[in-house]
Amino acid sequence: MDNNELWNVVLREIEVSTSKANFATWFQQTAINNHSEACVTISTPSAFVKEWLEYKYHKQILKALRVAAPDVRTIQYMVTPAPLQAARTAAAKPQQAAPGTDEQLEFVEFTVDRATNLNPRYVFENFIVGSFNELAYAAALATVKNIGVLYNPLFIYGGVGLGKTHLLHAIGNAVKQQRPNVKISYISTERFTSELVSAIQNRETDRFKERYRQNDVLLIDDIQFISGKTTTQEEFFHTFNALHGANKQIVFSSDGPPKSIQHLEERLRSRFEGGMIVDVTVPEYESRLAILKSKMQEKKQRLGPELLEYIAAEVASNIRELEGALNVVIVHQARHPHRSLTSGEVREILAKNTAPRRAITAAQIIRIVAEFYDVPERMLSEKTRRKEVVKPRQICMYLLREDFSGSYPYIGQKFGGRDHTTALHAHEKIAKNIKGNESIANEIKQIRDILYK
Ligand code: ADP
Ligand code: MG
Repeated sequence: MDNNELWNVVLREIEVSTSKANFATWFQQTAINNHSEACVTISTPSAFVKEWLEYKYHKQILKALRVAAPDVRTIQYMVTPAPLQAARTAAAKPQQAAPGTDEQLEFVEFTVDRATNLNPRYVFENFIVGSFNELAYAAALATVKNIGVLYNPLFIYGGVGLGKTHLLHAIGNAVKQQRPNVKISYISTERFTSELVSAIQNRETDRFKERYRQNDVLLIDDIQFISGKTTTQEEFFHTFNALHGANKQIVFSSDGPPKSIQHLEERLRSRFEGGMIVDVTVPEYESRLAILKSKMQEKKQRLGPELLEYIAAEVASNIRELEGALNVVIVHQARHPHRSLTSGEVREILAKNTAPRRAITAAQIIRIVAEFYDVPERMLSEKTRRKEVVKPRQICMYLLREDFSGSYPYIGQKFGGRDHTTALHAHEKIAKNIKGNESIANEIKQIRDILYK
């Protein structure tokens, strides 16, 4: 078994026991670099990932390795710069939408602005809005118009590849365009914390604070990575207060809401929750199609409409994978300049490059649940609290959350403009009921059977 195959076995093992978000975050661009009998060297894209694998995943990795290579005793972790990695990882993970392709197929060159770290590629103009992200979009626009005063901090959360980083940059780029004198800085939490750590070590935290206080808008990406870093959190708390107190706008992105970030100081959590919290969820079919069309224009490429529809129907997991799939199809299409690929060919291409999942729409869920309990659909969004309606309504909300990844505000909205807390409580209640009540669990299973048949 060569290194690639061995690592593949390990990745598959870990993938099933890890959340999708974590898997994508920590195992993208990892590989086995070297394997002598007892020792395996694993390369990682950054010091941060390296640390995290050592700290969090070491046991799991070792266990999985030993299944395939029982002689392994020790693991070494090393950092390998990204370009070396891309090709290897693409080969190692055929079931993912080849993460490398994003970069390899960049049709238009963009350079990141040195002073702000902003990527001019990510703007509102090419950000497609649908029910899956409209609240986050609206909050981002409002923040641009009311820097530091309206939503502070703005906290945007959601799964991987759903547009959080894009939104952060879009906010920055829009502010820069409208008000050239405003100071903006985009920074990953990884870099932010490593700067902060060295400031603490060099007793320069005041200077650090000062430097960041010069920003009017600070965009901090993937704040969940602050989890567990006690000293960093303490210092960051003060930096945050200094910025906030001076009405500087802070925008965070995270893979989950503040309450889901583990090992986070309570007072920081309450700061994160002190402004506006919005989420981005998985786009439904129409939005996926709109995104594909917009990317085609951006890349100045052509593909038949039925092929785009096919891709939109098949790749439902997230926007990054959607783009990855599109890129792969474009490359294949380019090899046949005189004819259009058939949908059969596209199916084959996607099967090699992605893991397609069946997507369900919100409307389907509501229709099927209403039919199942034999209540008129419209009654679900009315105010009535009749028992016969309340239960199906809550089950709808539960399924919209679980199977459609709808945000609570979105779900509340769907049922007659109810508050997001109603959706949240419904979800919690049904989740609890499923555990304690067999008949509910059974009903939901039957509903899902109908939905996915
Ligand atoms: P995240 O930070 O949530 O993991 P990104 O912001 O990196 O996701 O988005 C992944 C890719 O999908 C990027 O290329 C981005 O431009 C694209 N993308 C995300 N959301 C949208 C959207 N609403 N419209 C168009 N493109 C999007
Ligand atoms: Mg991101």
